[in-house]
Order: sequence, then C-alpha cells, then structure tokens
Amino acid sequence: MDKIYDVIIIGSGPAGLAAALYAGRAELDTIIIEKAPMSGGQIINTYEVDNYPGIPGISGFELGTKFREHCDRMDMKFITGEVINFRVEDGLKIITLDNDTVYKSKTAIIATGANPRKLGVKGEERLAGMGVSYCATCDGAFFRNKVTAVIGGGDVAVEDAIFLARLCKKVYVIHRRDEFRAARSYINKLVSMENVEIIWDSVVDEIAGKEQVENITVKNLKTANSTELPVDGVFIAVGNIPNSSVYKTAIEADPSGYLIAGESCETNIPGVFAAGDVRTKELRQIITAASDGANSITGVEKYLNTL
Ligand code: NAP
Repeated sequence: MDKIYDVIIIGSGPAGLAAALYAGRAELDTIIIEKAPMSGGQIINTYEVDNYPGIPGISGFELGTKFREHCDRMDMKFITGEVINFRVEDGLKIITLDNDTVYKSKTAIIATGANPRKLGVKGEERLAGMGVSYCATCDGAFFRNKVTAVIGGGDVAVEDAIFLARLCKKVYVIHRRDEFRAARSYINKLVSMENVEIIWDSVVDEIAGKEQVENITVKNLKTANSTELPVDGVFIAVGNIPNSSVYKTAIEADPSGYLIAGESCETNIPGVFAAGDVRTKELRQIITAASDGANSITGVEKYLNTL
C-alpha cells in the first residue's frame, strides 16, 4: 500500500518552513515539496529585512537560510519537484510531481507564495534579462553608475529604488498615482536620496532598445502626454500573482487567484490549508507568512484528531 503522510507541505518560503518547523516539533510524519533545492521563496531576493522582530537589518537570504537551518535541526524531509496536479479523493490529498511521482497525505498545506506580476507592455518580454528585471537585488549590480527606472509604488518598488540609488547614477521611480502605498519609513529614505526622481501619475507604455533596454515611453495619465526617457534598465515591481493555478480547481480562490482562507488557514476543503502569500489576507509579510505556517499546523493537528 502507498505510504500516507500526516501532512505534505508544498513550498519552502517562510510559511512552508515555519509549518515544517511546527510539524517537526509535533512529530508529524511530514514531507516538504519545494520547486528548487533551498528555494526559500521570495525572501531570498530581499535585500534587507528590517521588520522581523529580534533580527534587525538582516538580509533576506540570511534570514531564509536561518529558517531552513532551523528546520534541518528537526531532520525534516525535503523533496525537490514541481507539483503539477493536486486532488482530493475520499479525504486523501493526492499530489503529483512533474516527474510523475505521486504522494498521498491526510492533510496538505499549500504555501506556494506568489511571483512578480508583469506590466504587459511592448518590449517587456523581448528585453527581459536584457535590461528588464523583476529583482533589483539580483540584477542591480549590473547597473552600477547607469540610469534605471523602477515601476510601482509599493514596498518592493520603493525598497528597490533605494537599493538601486546606492549603485546607479540616476533612478526614476514611475508610479501610476500621486502617492506611494509603501511604508512611511521607506518613503522618507527614498525622497532624501538626491539621485532619485519620482514621476507621479504615470505609466510605462513601451520599453525599447535593439538588444538592450535603451529607453522607455512614459505616459502621464493626467495630461496624456508621452515622453521618451533614456534608461539602461527597468525594474518592474508592480505586485505579485499567487502561485495557485494547480490548486484553484480543487480549492476556492478569489478573483485574483488567492486561495480563500482566514487566519486559521483552513480552505473550503477539510484538511487542506493555505499559508503565506498564496492565501487571501490583509498583510503579506514574512512575519504573517511564518504565523500562517504555525496556525496551519495547529489546524492539521486538530483535523488529524478527528480522523
Ligand atoms: P503591492 O504592495 O501590491 O504594490 C504594487 C504596486 O504596483 C502598487 O503601487 C500598484 O499601484 C502598482 N501597480 C500594480 N499594477 C500596476 C500596473 N499594471 N502598472 C503600474 N503600476 C502597477 O506589491 P509589492 O510592493 O510587490 O509588495 C507585495 C507585498 O509584500 C505587500 O504586502 C508588501 O507590503 C509586502 N512587502 C513587505 C516588505 C517589508 O515589510 N519589508 C518588503 C517588500 C514587500 P497602486 O498603488 O496604484 O495600486
């Protein structure tokens, strides 16, 4: 007979790793499925995390590594693979990987996070990796002393712009409204930087260049005027799309694709939990993702007790 685990955790960002830690402490028979070895989720691309209590100013990579090392002390079993199918049969959660391996479990925690949203403008796809980037901390070093533009007005856009302004000759921040939604502390830092120019009420209509990004067309939404701006790099930070496509057929999701679950992380399917950025929630941060990991294991234990 196939092995049936107590819980399968899908994803190894802060939510998945916190769930793994709690599962290990609860001595649940657990596996964690991650897309790439030590994938770590979005956190590994975060330059600096300064709002995780007790560890001020740590790099995202270092914090992610600490989360993982903590799990490794519990001897948790990690499996690398991409989940291509998720279904529930007679209460059993059945997960198929891209190498056709099938895993079965009494419960599942979906902690698959989210990926950067694309702008969807001309030139974006063609010049991706040739000046168009979705990760300033990964690619910023290639733009030392150059001119870059950051698109967006959230925490990531403002953080990225601060990071780039330390390296680049000039950084434009292009935002579709006239106020940022980022945290005040980031905004204060950004506006104090002399080589940053903020372009309000504007969107990028086109990214152009022969083999590398050479310029962008910026349209002011209030005046409808368009301007061509010479830049060497474009950093797109316009939010995320949840990694829920495999699960949405089985689990209820909202119109944006976030799996519907409250603080307990319970979805509409008994024994299936959604944790971290993939779940419907107000605040998507490392600390709330980690909290979801803990809450979902509490739910798993309660559910197992009913079997
Ligand atoms: P976000 O908060 O959703 O911000 C996305 C930004 O992109 C918004 O300013 C939005 O404009 C803009 N935008 C969306 N679609 C656009 C489009 N098609 N064209 C132009 N602009 C567009 O996303 P995020 O900055 O990636 O952050 C994701 C989550 O992670 C947030 O909850 C954030 O607080 C959290 N985070 C936290 C930290 C931290 O605490 N250290 C660091 C990074 C991220 P509008 O403002 O007009 O909607």
